Amino acid sequence: MPLQKNFLLASKIFEIRQEFLENRPLDFKPKLWSSITETRQDIVIVMVVPTRGCSWAFSESGGCSVCGYINDSSHERPIPEERILKEIDLTLSRVDSVKPIEFKLYNSGSFFDENDVPKNLRIKILEKIQKNPDIYKLSVENRPEFLINQVKIIKEAKKILEPIQLEIGIGIESSNNAILKDCMNKGFSIKEYKKSVQIIRSLNIRLKSYVFVKPPFLTENEAIVDAIKTARDAIDIGTDVISFNPCNIQNGTLVSHLHKQDRYQPPWIWSVLYIVKTIREEFPNIEILCEPTAGGKLRGTHNCGKCDKTVLDLINKITEKEEVNDDPSKLCSCFCKWKVLVETPIETFRSRNLSRLRRLDPLNE
Ligand code: SF4
Ligand SMILES: [Zn+2]
Repeated sequence: MPLQKNFLLASKIFEIRQEFLENRPLDFKPKLWSSITETRQDIVIVMVVPTRGCSWAFSESGGCSVCGYINDSSHERPIPEERILKEIDLTLSRVDSVKPIEFKLYNSGSFFDENDVPKNLRIKILEKIQKNPDIYKLSVENRPEFLINQVKIIKEAKKILEPIQLEIGIGIESSNNAILKDCMNKGFSIKEYKKSVQIIRSLNIRLKSYVFVKPPFLTENEAIVDAIKTARDAIDIGTDVISFNPCNIQNGTLVSHLHKQDRYQPPWIWSVLYIVKTIREEFPNIEILCEPTAGGKLRGTHNCGKCDKTVLDLINKITEKEEVNDDPSKLCSCFCKWKVLVETPIETFRSRNLSRLRRLDPLNE
């Protein structure tokens, strides 16, 4: 796969990441956690497992500009395989409902990358999942190169899992090649995404595409336009699910570095609402997900602080296909600030302040 790389950007990301990893405390523990949520139709288990870590983030290219998942991976330590397998059993034993289970297993890298998830571990996980009769779907994540080059491995996984459905998530993030290269440092272009979609479709596997909301170096308005276009393109190319990921600032990343220098702010929740609403109206039948990490916090998508929860709930209702008749402009006065911001064509001192000071009480401004 030809490398799509902006060398200046990549070397800066590499430098920031290395510095962070070198300064991690010696007693640092790789992250292993799980959660169980009951929805109307099913039980959703989310489990984050500390495998070796994303090969792209380990490379000299430094990984994606917004991603700090490698901070929680096993990195240079042995992968705690037994603990991972036990955690799967333990979590499944805690489910006390008769509803079917969707199992989302995230290794914060690529499930089919054997440097990240060794073959033995991958097969043991798949066999364990397959043995549970209540699980109907397993979701994992993967970069395009580990789909394009690993067809045999994916076919084998599908066979082990049967009749459980396999869903693969790809972080397309943006369908704009310049943004992929010069803002996100993804290392692939839309051509590789298309190729992996063809493979997934031909194997009859379900596809989820992650769309990033507000890559660095874009204005709020550019980020909205880009997320909407990306979702449209991904649906057109053949995704089954769109998952919108508003930026949350993670340690040891380029966005964290820019944020500290006041050169980056996470998106407003109003922007996320606008994006989700637009795509829901255009594609009433597509599955849309949007569960912002750190939503309502300063390091995640946020508004003025008073309306954050209300607007996040509204987004949830839209993704769940519930009818929503609220007029956003009537929900909170900060909607007007956001509107001014998105109508400003270029980033100015004033527009930067609108975003930076969105939590300021208007009476004290
Ligand atoms: S976003 Fe995915 S591909 Fe990029 S560095 Fe993080 S885990 Fe790796
Ligand atoms: Zn508000």
